Amino acid sequence: MPHKPTEPLAPGSAIGILGGGQLGRMTALAAASLGYRCHVFCPEADAPAAQVTSRATRAAYDDEAALAGFSKAVDVVSFEFENIPVAAAEFLAQRVAVRPGPEVLRICQNRLREKDFCGATGVPTARYGEASGPDSLARVARDIGLPCVLKTTEMGYDGKGQVLISSEADLESAWPAMAGGNPGATGIVEAFVDFALEISVIVARGADGACRTYPAVENQHREHILDQTIAPARVSQRVTDRAEGIAFALAEKLDLIGLLAIEMFVTQEEEVLVNELAPRPHNSGHWTIDACLTSQFEQFVRAVAGLPLGSTERHADAVMKNLLGEEANRWREILTDPAAKLHLYGKAEARPGRKMGHVTRLMPRE
Ligand code: AMP
Repeated sequence: MPHKPTEPLAPGSAIGILGGGQLGRMTALAAASLGYRCHVFCPEADAPAAQVTSRATRAAYDDEAALAGFSKAVDVVSFEFENIPVAAAEFLAQRVAVRPGPEVLRICQNRLREKDFCGATGVPTARYGEASGPDSLARVARDIGLPCVLKTTEMGYDGKGQVLISSEADLESAWPAMAGGNPGATGIVEAFVDFALEISVIVARGADGACRTYPAVENQHREHILDQTIAPARVSQRVTDRAEGIAFALAEKLDLIGLLAIEMFVTQEEEVLVNELAPRPHNSGHWTIDACLTSQFEQFVRAVAGLPLGSTERHADAVMKNLLGEEANRWREILTDPAAKLHLYGKAEARPGRKMGHVTRLMPRE
């Protein structure tokens, strides 16, 4: 029988985190503040999360012997990125509570399932259709109308595996550009949204079903990668209410325990369309570390550990700037501003576009 803690996790308990990136690192730091230990499971050496935890398992996600050992060493398991194989989460869920559950992972790691799920929840998205190869791509793209965007259904992030189809002439090259030589790739075609801006909302749902959202924030991307988050988003109350309503509806329907980040487009007509879901802490929530009573990472730990959720109230407005690649080398200059809150992730190699750290600047509220 899987162990299902109905009681809050006692201080000193171990939280297992699948994935070793910066989201796991900042989660482990927040967990330590609440008296928990974290045990990171990931295939990489010297992972940012493993650097701040005393326990780590370095193994592949399909290594069942390693997963079984990990399940015995922890009291609950979560994940810090959604491209963990569902089979690994299911294997663990036979042995220990996994929060959010494997079904949430299954839905959120596939863009088609994600959008179907939104539809089933009554949440609007751009028009979309499935493309299983170059022929169906042409048919679906004409049906949806040009311009449109072809994306891989799985494993795409930060614009990877994504192709804009502006005209009929782009159709032929689009499939190979998206699939990148993967014969098993499947695609989703989405109508191109001429958005006014992009926003996101992070919602937390506790083990008792209580839900809290952070304010909607505005996300500015450069080459498909988040560059800057402005908190709160400069949108009307109507848009904020819609975005929050969407967040609550999705968290409920997913029966979530943990965090869900929802990336959305706001159209010129103030329509709010869901682009993507992430069932974990999110880059656009990093500002909450310095500007909110409870950071997204602490909230995530609280939810997963079965504690009551904390207040999401903010004491400051904020601008969070990602430090991508070489930008992180500016750390000395950034620190000449004593009010700049610098966070670096402990990554040795500054590859172009790699998230190396972030800096948050606060605008305290009256
Ligand atoms: P994604 O990987 O889906 O988060 O996409 C990365 C970025 O590409 C988004 O944040 C948007 O800026 C842009 N994008 C993705 N899908 C669309 C779309 N259907 N219409 C317009 N822009 C898009």
